Amino acid sequence: MVSRRDFLEVVSVAGVGLVLVPRLGWSQAATAPATTFTDIRGGVGLFEGRGGTIGWYASKDALVVVDSQFPDTARICLDGLRQKSGRGVDLLVNTHHHGDHTAGNKTLKEAATRVLAHANVPGLQRRAAEEAKTLDAQVYADRTFTDVWREDIGGETLRAQYYGPAHTSGDAVVTFEKANVAHMGDLVFNRVFPFIDRKSGASIANWIVVLEKTVAAHVQDTQYIFGHGASIRGGRADVLAQRDFMTALLETVRKAHSAGESKAEVQKRSAVPGFDTWKPLGTFVNAASLFGTAYDEVAGAPR
Ligand SMILES: [Zn+2]
Repeated sequence: MVSRRDFLEVVSVAGVGLVLVPRLGWSQAATAPATTFTDIRGGVGLFEGRGGTIGWYASKDALVVVDSQFPDTARICLDGLRQKSGRGVDLLVNTHHHGDHTAGNKTLKEAATRVLAHANVPGLQRRAAEEAKTLDAQVYADRTFTDVWREDIGGETLRAQYYGPAHTSGDAVVTFEKANVAHMGDLVFNRVFPFIDRKSGASIANWIVVLEKTVAAHVQDTQYIFGHGASIRGGRADVLAQRDFMTALLETVRKAHSAGESKAEVQKRSAVPGFDTWKPLGTFVNAASLFGTAYDEVAGAPR
């Protein structure tokens, strides 16, 4: 059976702008969005709806939510988590500024006392909202950090860490230390072509370093949550596979560039060598846009 996550497309959502969503099947059209809660361990779990995967920690002492999807699915997520914990949201964390991770902030903020993100996120979010004319729909982080944020919350210890530019210039890895579960945001597009937001400060070269540092900062059996992918949950090997994909992409394009290939020639490739099974991210990131973005980075094109 084919997962609905295999059918992502980019659509324009009123008040949000361009976003990544699963393509609606006939059975889903005009009905409530399909959503799922999954327990991982130690009170930590994930929520699937539309857009970037939501992570959560729910206990009687604390409720933490990582990313917020869209207003409709954020509502379903909030209702379900309130039932689990009997509380409001003690902390909402955004892994980065993209709309499919922050458009539900406004819904969750009704119940949330604090919103946390990397220091670059509010500015990136505001600029994207200005372009999409969605300023009224935004709720921004009211707590920010530059390198690391760590706090005891309920029975957990939460750590949000920035390792430098990668998918954007504001990506946080959010770790629930006791449960040993880390939310990677969009630092891992598990086995589909990643979106590299060059305009927001992305760097393929540093993305490789960020994934190295992330794995080094976690133990062997950490469970990881991914923003998007063929599977949105995995282990260290999946994080390292993303690193290896980015490395092969960059190497391929560096070689082609130094051999004098033009951008248009580089963009004729259909797969990254050694990663033939990694597929386009719906219509949003195809081979031409993937290789074109890598070419721009290698050639030092303006952002
Ligand atoms: Zn993203």
